[in-house]
Amino acid sequence: MITTTAPRGPKGPRPQKKFFHRRKFCRFCTDSNIKIEYKDPQTLREFTTERGKIMPRRITGNCAKHQRELTVAIKRARTIALLPFVVSEG
Ligand SMILES: [Zn+2]
Repeated sequence: MITTTAPRGPKGPRPQKKFFHRRKFCRFCTDSNIKIEYKDPQTLREFTTERGKIMPRRITGNCAKHQRELTVAIKRARTIALLPFVVSEG
């Protein structure tokens, strides 16, 4: 019997994926009903991590245009305290 071990990179085992499944397409392009608005923190929150950070485009799958709009909206929402800058633990 042959035992196969997974090849390990120089950086060791990969960190666990803690994000939801990847969306291949930009959500805002596919669904015209969703609007990027700083007044809508619920939508914006879906694009931030649990720590309050903005998710990178490779995870959200947004296009450059919408990712940029989203970043602006999230930053705007932060300044008027609709979204947290940092979510502290505990
Ligand atoms: Zn888009």
